[in-house]
Amino acid sequence: MKSPIPDYLAGVLEKVRPIERGAPAGYIDTLARADTSKLAVAIAMVDGNLYSAGDDRVEFSIQSISKAFVYALAIEDSGLERVLEKIGVEPSGDAFNELSLEKGTNRPMNPMINAGAITAHSLVVGPDATAEQRTDRILKALSRLAGRELHVDEEVYESELKDGDRNMGIGHMLKAAGIIKCNPQEVVRGYIRQCSINVNVRDLAMMAATLCNAGVHPVTGESIIPQRSVRQVLSVMTTCGMYDAAGDWVSNVGIPAKSGVAGGIIGALPGQVGLAAFSPKLDERGNSVRGVAICEKMSSDMGLHMMEASQIARATVRTSVATIVAGECEPHNRNCQREVVIFSLRGAVRFAGSERLSRAIQREVGDPDPADPGSGAHADACAIVLSFRDVYSLSAVAQKVIGEVVRRLLLEDRSVVIVDPSHVFPKEVKGDKDAQHPVIVQSEGEARDHIGGRGCSTLQKTDSW
Ligand code: GLU
Repeated sequence: MKSPIPDYLAGVLEKVRPIERGAPAGYIDTLARADTSKLAVAIAMVDGNLYSAGDDRVEFSIQSISKAFVYALAIEDSGLERVLEKIGVEPSGDAFNELSLEKGTNRPMNPMINAGAITAHSLVVGPDATAEQRTDRILKALSRLAGRELHVDEEVYESELKDGDRNMGIGHMLKAAGIIKCNPQEVVRGYIRQCSINVNVRDLAMMAATLCNAGVHPVTGESIIPQRSVRQVLSVMTTCGMYDAAGDWVSNVGIPAKSGVAGGIIGALPGQVGLAAFSPKLDERGNSVRGVAICEKMSSDMGLHMMEASQIARATVRTSVATIVAGECEPHNRNCQREVVIFSLRGAVRFAGSERLSRAIQREVGDPDPADPGSGAHADACAIVLSFRDVYSLSAVAQKVIGEVVRRLLLEDRSVVIVDPSHVFPKEVKGDKDAQHPVIVQSEGEARDHIGGRGCSTLQKTDSW
C-alpha cells in the first residue's frame, strides 16, 4: 500500500497554486528576483518520519524563521533571566522592521521583530564573543536541527547588507538605549548572516519537529534545545511569530509558527507534528500568501488547531472486574473468591487522565454514595490492579496524582498491584509502614499469580485477563 499522506500534500499544493496574490520581498534585491512559481510543503512527525511535496529540495534563505531558534540559543547561552531583561514577550502590532522599543522598559517588544532578534543575536555565546563566534555557533546549531550541514547564501547576505540601512538603524537605536553593549554594525552583520542561511522545506519541517519533540531531534535523538526554552520559544511564536497577523493566525490556524520574508513558514504543534511551507509571494504583513493558505488548509483538514478539544480524557481509563479462584501455591489473597478490580490506562497520561483514574478508583472501591447509584460496588475487592500496559508516558503531575492515590490505598491496607512493563510508574511510592508498598509486575499473568497464587484460575474474565 502506498501511503496516502504524500498524495494529500500534493493535493494541498494544487489547491493553493492558483492563488496569485502577493509579491516577493522587494527590499532585498535577491529576494525580489525569486522564482515565484516555486511551491513546497513538508511535515515531520515527532518520530522523525518526514513527508514532502512540490519543490521540496529548492533552497531559500531562512530569514526571520531563524529568530525562533536563535532566541533559544540566546536563552541557553545567556540565561532566560538576562534575555527577559533585554527582550520583552509582548506582541507589538508593528511592522517587523519597526524602529521601536517598549515604553517604560526600553526593551524591544519581542524576539520575533527585528529589534528583538538583533538583541537575541547579541546574546548568543556571550557578551565578549566575536561576530564569527556567534555566526559559527548559529550555523552549527541550525545544521544540527536540520540534520545536515547548512550554508550561508553569500549573494543574499551581500544583497541584504547593501540595503541594510534600516537594520543598521535598529542596531544603533539598541546601542543608544543600552540594550546592546557591543558594536551595533557587527551585531547587525551577524544577524543578516543568520537570516541568509539556506534551507529547504524538509530542513524546516525537521527543525519544527524538534521543537514539537521537546527539543530532542526526532532522528538523531540529540537533545538540542532544553525543554524550558522550547516552551518559551513556542509561546512567543504563538503570540508574535506571524508579525502583526498573530491574532488572525492563532484563530485560523492555531499552531505556534514563524514566517520569513523569503516565503518560508514553519508551524510546530507540540507533541505532534512540525510543518513547513514555501512560496515566495508575501502579503502586506510579510507572510507567504500561499504558505498561509497551506497551513490553514492542513490545520483544518487534519484537526491541528491547538485549541481543538477533540481528545476527550474520558477515554483514558477502562474499568473491569475479574474473580480469581486462589491456587494452592502461596496465594497472597486466600479470600479471592471476591473480585479484583482492574483499572487500565492508555496512551500518554497527563493530569486529566490521572484525575479520571483517581475518580474511577474512588467511585468503584470507595464508600457507596447515595447520590450516585452503583458507586462503591467493589468496596470489598480483594485487590486493586492498575494496568499501565498500554501507557507509554506518565507526565510529572500524573505521576504525583497516581502515586498519591496509590499511597492512600495502601494506607487503607488495600492490596495494590501495578502492571508496569514500561516502567512509567514512580518506584518510590509506598505507604507508611514497610509492608505497605505496591507490588509491581510486568504482565497481567504475573499480577494474577501474585493475587491468587500460582495455579489460580479466573472465573469471570475480561479481555486481558
Ligand atoms: N533579514 C530580514 C530583515 O531583517 C528578515 C526579516 C524577515 O524575514 O521578516 O529584514
